[in-house]
Amino acid sequence: MKPAGTILAVPHLHVRPQSVVSRIDGEWAFAHADGNVKLVIRPAAGGDDVLRAFEGDLSEHDGRRLLVGPASAGNAAALRAQLSWLAPQPLGHRTSFGFGDRLGLATPGHVRALKAAGGGIVPVFAQQSARELARTGRTPHDVLNTATWGAFAEGWTGPQGADADHLKTTADVDAYLAAGFTMFTIDPGDHVGHLEPDVTPRDLRIEFATLPWPELETTPAALLARYEGRTFDVEGHVIGFSEETLVRAALKYARAVRHVTMMYRHLVAAAGARLVEIEVSVDETDTPTSPPEHVFVATELRRLGVTWTSLAPRLVGRFEKGVDYIGDAAVFEADWRIHASIARVLGPYKLSLHSGSDKFSIYRAVATHTRGVVHVKTAGTSWLEALRTLAAMDAPLFRELYRFARECYDDDRASYHVSARVDAAPDADTLSDQQLPALLDDFHARQVLHVTFGSILTAADSAGTGRFSNRIIAGLRAHAEEYAANLERHFLRHLAPFAAMPGRP
Ligand SMILES: [Zn+2]
Repeated sequence: MKPAGTILAVPHLHVRPQSVVSRIDGEWAFAHADGNVKLVIRPAAGGDDVLRAFEGDLSEHDGRRLLVGPASAGNAAALRAQLSWLAPQPLGHRTSFGFGDRLGLATPGHVRALKAAGGGIVPVFAQQSARELARTGRTPHDVLNTATWGAFAEGWTGPQGADADHLKTTADVDAYLAAGFTMFTIDPGDHVGHLEPDVTPRDLRIEFATLPWPELETTPAALLARYEGRTFDVEGHVIGFSEETLVRAALKYARAVRHVTMMYRHLVAAAGARLVEIEVSVDETDTPTSPPEHVFVATELRRLGVTWTSLAPRLVGRFEKGVDYIGDAAVFEADWRIHASIARVLGPYKLSLHSGSDKFSIYRAVATHTRGVVHVKTAGTSWLEALRTLAAMDAPLFRELYRFARECYDDDRASYHVSARVDAAPDADTLSDQQLPALLDDFHARQVLHVTFGSILTAADSAGTGRFSNRIIAGLRAHAEEYAANLERHFLRHLAPFAAMPGRP
C-alpha cells in the first residue's frame, strides 16, 4: 500500500506515515533504516537547493534527488529552519502544557495525547530545568533537538514552545538562549525571605529598612505610600494593604523582585531581536503566596519594567511530585480563584501550575477559574510512564533499578516536595512480574522512582559505563509503541479538562 511516486514508496526505508510533510517544494519524512532513525528529504523537481543545509547520503529515486541523513544536531537545526513550526516560539496567552522529557524519547507519546485531546492546547515539548540537566548530564541543545525529532516523527505541525525551566543565574539564561529556547522561567526562590512567626512589629521595621532600596529603585517611604491604606478590587475580591501587610510582603518578596528584574534585563539584552517570553516562578518556596503578596510581586515587577507571560505562585496545599493534590480541594479552589482574578486584572497573564502532573482532583477548577489562560507544567510523570513500560517489558531491569531507587531515595528526596517513605514502598521481591507495573500506581513507589531519576540515569558500573541508562534507553526504543501508548493514555487524562474549556481562545 505504498503510494507510488511519493516518499513512502522509497525502497529499503520504513517511513513513518504520520511524519510525512508534503509541500510544493518537496517531501520530508522520518524513517527507520538499518536499525537507525533517519531523516529523508525528496525535493520537488528543480528544488535541490533545499538540501544544501542538510547532511546525509544523496541518491536518485524515481528521477528525483533523495537525501537520507542522520538524526543529528545539524539536521535538527536545519529542519527547524525549513519546517518553521518545528522551531519553538513564544506561546502568549494560549492554554499551554509543558511536557518535560528527561530521556528525550517521550515527545511522540506527548504528540499522540495532544492529538487525542482534540487540539486547542499548545505544547512545550522541550522543557528541562537547570537542576534536571545537571542530574541527567544533558544539555539545552540536546533537549531541544530530541523534542524536534519527536515532534517531526509523530507529525506535530502546530506551534510549540521551549521552556528553560527554573533558571537561577544569568549563566543559565545564556546557555538556554544559545540553544534556541523561547520561554524563560525565572526562579527567584533563593531570594524569597522567611519571617519567623514571632517577629515583632519593631523587627519588621528594622528589617524593612535593610532591603536593597537602590536596586529596587524606590525608597521605604515611597513604597509605603503606594500601598498603605489602599485596597485593590480584583473582580469583587477586595485585597487591602495595611502597613504591616505591605512590610511583610516586601520582606518576603522584594529581594525576589530585584532578582527577577536583574535576570529579565539580562535576558532582554542578550536576546536582542529574538522573541522570548518570561515566566516568573516562586512555586518552590516554603509558604503559600497570599493574594496581597501576589499583588505586591506583580505591581513591583511592573514598576521595574518587567513584562511576563505567566506567573507561578506558591499555592496552598501540597503539590508533591507525581501524585494528586494533597489538601482541601475547596480551599485550593477559593485561593486559586483569587489568584486567577489578580492575573486578569493586573495582567492579563497566565497562571502557571508547577508540579502539575497527576493533580486530577483540581484540574477542573484550574481550567475554569483561569478561563483557560493557564500553563500546566509536568516533568517526571513521563519518566514514570517510561518505568511503567519497562516494568511490563523488562522485569529484571525494572526490579534492579527499583531496588537501587529505594537505596537512593532518602538522599535524593532532599530538594523535592515529597512525603513518600521507603519502608511503605512495596518490596519488589514480594511481587510477581505481572504485579510490577502496578507499582507505578502506588503513592510511595511513584515518589521513590520519581526523585531518583538522576541517580538511576548517572549510575555507573565498575567499567564506568551507565549501569542502567543504556538499557533503559534501548528498552524504550525497542518498545517505542508501548511507551507512546502509555504516555497517550496518561496525558489524555491531564489534557482533557483543559481541552474541554468553553470560551478558550
Ligand atoms: Zn516549578
